[in-house]
Amino acid sequence: MKSLLFALLTSVAIVPLLHAQTPLTSETHPFLPLPYAYEALEPYIDAQTMQIHYDRHYRAYHQNFLKAIAGTEWEHVPAEKLMGQISGLSPAIRNNGGGYYNHLFFWNTLAPQPGTPSEPLLAAIQQQFGSMEALQTEFATKAKSVFGSGWAWLIVTPQGQLQVVTTPNQDNPLMDVAPVKGTPILGIDVWEHAYYLKYQNKRPDYIDAFWKIVHWSQVSSRYAAALK
Ligand code: MN
Repeated sequence: MKSLLFALLTSVAIVPLLHAQTPLTSETHPFLPLPYAYEALEPYIDAQTMQIHYDRHYRAYHQNFLKAIAGTEWEHVPAEKLMGQISGLSPAIRNNGGGYYNHLFFWNTLAPQPGTPSEPLLAAIQQQFGSMEALQTEFATKAKSVFGSGWAWLIVTPQGQLQVVTTPNQDNPLMDVAPVKGTPILGIDVWEHAYYLKYQNKRPDYIDAFWKIVHWSQVSSRYAAALK
């Protein structure tokens, strides 16, 4: 009798509950594993921040993005392409599609072994900013200037020039609403959820630490691709 009751309870109560929580999936917009362990970027980004950032914030953007495009003509359009037409789409797609794209970009901008920029990228940085240090100073100034939540980026403009820009919320430089458009090759998330546990109000310290874990070979590949 007990087991029958148990079977009844599980079938009517628990199974629908599990079903309701089944995450949405998409081949066009996959929820990819983080390319390194949560603790791999210590001491610059702590494991708890990475875990909450990836597993809760990023997952929520992904799920809400899939919900927002479900059943629309945008369901199977790659996120990069969708960004260029974002002004005509809903705020839910803009915020969550941006959040999905930006975070995937961010995970792959970082690496436990940072490496060095390619010769062409370093030469372009030196020519256009004066030095790597000058780029980092300008980048830090702009990243600190983001009021509230947003991102700072190093982009390649349509003219092939490097430029440091910022975007509010989950916007990015691929969006048609961006004041300065271009192809991002490096970006930092300056939402408080990206750094507050370790750095609290000290956003400048987080921005300094960011440079210790930049995945330069990835950034260099993006630079080469953006020039094509
Ligand atoms: Mn974030």
